[in-house]
Amino acid sequence: MSAVLNGMNRTSETPAPLSASNIIFNRSTVERSVPQHGSPEQWAQNVCSDHMVTCRWTLSDGWEVPHIVPYGNLSISPAASCLNYATQCFEGMKAFRGFDGKLRLFRPDCNAKRLVMSAQRVCLPAFDDNELVELIKALLRIDAPRWLPKEAAGRFLYIRPCLVGTGDQLGVQTPREATLYIMMVPWPDFSKESPPGISPRDGLRLYASAEDTIRAWPGGFGFAKVGANYGTSFGAHGEAQHKGYDQVLWLFGPDHQITEAGASNFCAIVRNRDSGLTELITPPLAEKLILDGVTRRSILELARSRMAGELEVVERKFTMHELENAWEEGRIVETFVCGTAFFITPVLSINFNGRELDLPHGDADPGKRFTSLFGDWLRNIQLGVVDHQWAVEVKEF
Ligand SMILES: *Cc1c(COP(=O)(O)O)cnc(C)c1O
Repeated sequence: MSAVLNGMNRTSETPAPLSASNIIFNRSTVERSVPQHGSPEQWAQNVCSDHMVTCRWTLSDGWEVPHIVPYGNLSISPAASCLNYATQCFEGMKAFRGFDGKLRLFRPDCNAKRLVMSAQRVCLPAFDDNELVELIKALLRIDAPRWLPKEAAGRFLYIRPCLVGTGDQLGVQTPREATLYIMMVPWPDFSKESPPGISPRDGLRLYASAEDTIRAWPGGFGFAKVGANYGTSFGAHGEAQHKGYDQVLWLFGPDHQITEAGASNFCAIVRNRDSGLTELITPPLAEKLILDGVTRRSILELARSRMAGELEVVERKFTMHELENAWEEGRIVETFVCGTAFFITPVLSINFNGRELDLPHGDADPGKRFTSLFGDWLRNIQLGVVDHQWAVEVKEF
């Protein structure tokens, strides 16, 4: 009944779209302390910047005016949809301080579109992805000067937009209220640094998931960045870490298809036995088992355009047995994982069914490895060393 009433009481015919043009600012009166680069506080990854964006949505009226407010707790009902039914999705992206002092986002349109896609998978409202990018820019304009100052050239802030079902209703149904919020955290560079007291390593050791443990399945939601994918994986991740590994390599199906590693995509550079060509093999998106990573997509696009004839990019189903076989025949050149958090990190070894596959790291000269090459390509775009349409400058005042 109330849904009908809400509909009739609506003040406007169509619910309002998300708009970044009339943000209400409530500036913080205190300055939170910015963790030192490489400090334990920074490694804890829980110190947010001074402000956050919040924007409420209701089924009847659509998106309200977005606010930029001091960072702090949200107040939601214990009966909120996200707390009971996992109506939650998020994004992970970075803002970079270039060596030229400019602030840039890397392909923010891809993240914003992906958040809309993830939202729809868990029945949360859609929105104009361009407006989300504008909200992110507005937050950066306020907090970047102190949290990613010009002196921090080459460094970045991690940006976490979230959309959650809120409201006050335990009925098992689509949320009628939601909250979009955006927070920012200074993060260490996982690809180059290690926490204080931990000796640096040049790659990750992966533990292949057991047959009775599945991250994603056809018809499920592995392709969406929804919180429900992560909490359920912490058990296997914890066990892998307990055994001395860094991440779980998620396999799927009786033929042990390789899907993803932790929250990053997996790629192997392998010499093809028949053609002799060097191939970059990565699992396909079509079956919706894996996330369409922006880092993955960018590497594939650049490799296709810049290394044609030298490196063949192949998106296909790829099993652990094929990888094992290539390893036995000495055809593996390099393997790596890629994502915003880990950037591009070589894989040192994979434990599969109790067998340890020690993987080669490519050319003896680290500078000539594919991982270094791809890393340089992306960093040069992100830090403004080269001009590229993927880098979106955020103008500061
Ligand atoms: C976020 C994420 C990735 C990496 O995506 P990017 O857009 O490159 O950061 C890969 N796999 C999973 C499961 C993820 O959550």
